[in-house]
Amino acid sequence: MDSSREEENDKAMMARCVELSRIAVGKTEYPFGTVIARDGQILAEAINHTVRDGDVTRHAEVIALSQAQKAIGREQLRHYTLYTNIEPCAMCAYCIREAWIGRVVYALSSPVMGGFSKWNILRDDDMSGRMPQIFANVPVVVSGVLAAEAQQAWRDWNPLAWQMIKLRGLLTDPSPEPVRVRPAHSRSLWHYMQILFERTRQARAETQAPDAQENSHL
Ligand SMILES: [Zn+2]
Repeated sequence: MDSSREEENDKAMMARCVELSRIAVGKTEYPFGTVIARDGQILAEAINHTVRDGDVTRHAEVIALSQAQKAIGREQLRHYTLYTNIEPCAMCAYCIREAWIGRVVYALSSPVMGGFSKWNILRDDDMSGRMPQIFANVPVVVSGVLAAEAQQAWRDWNPLAWQMIKLRGLLTDPSPEPVRVRPAHSRSLWHYMQILFERTRQARAETQAPDAQENSHL
């Protein structure tokens, strides 16, 4: 895909994340919104459920990743981008690596909690180098897309809280222009072998036990 088309898609998908972050506020959640998409086509989208479920693990990214894996499986997710208005936290960044997401785009950086600017999870080559059967290569990371719009949604949610967040440097605009970080290495042979193995296993499971698959959640 040419870069101007990609840029257009990134802005459209991030606009949806910002919209979701506003929807989240209307549902008594904090303003977080996530979309997983390929070429501008949305596969999954979510807001946080931490307040309503009383569960700190119910972040928008994790919920969207669950939907996406159920819909198309992990293997295909390398072609997809996860968009989110705030840099994914360490927990979500770990799930992104293990779900083999190919690209991560966010608006605002999270220097105190982020899985990229605070911890090295989205950049950690050692994980995929030593355990390629579990972790994909580091995703492409783009930050700063629609940063002003994302900030405005947070300011509208609670102007005082937003001032405190700014003063403490909890969420920041990474730069005037979006920043792109590309992987230094290509996918390993191990990874392709793992994909082949998963495909064969899935095909065998579908042929042999279609009923068992349907009832696998029981
Ligand atoms: Zn998170």
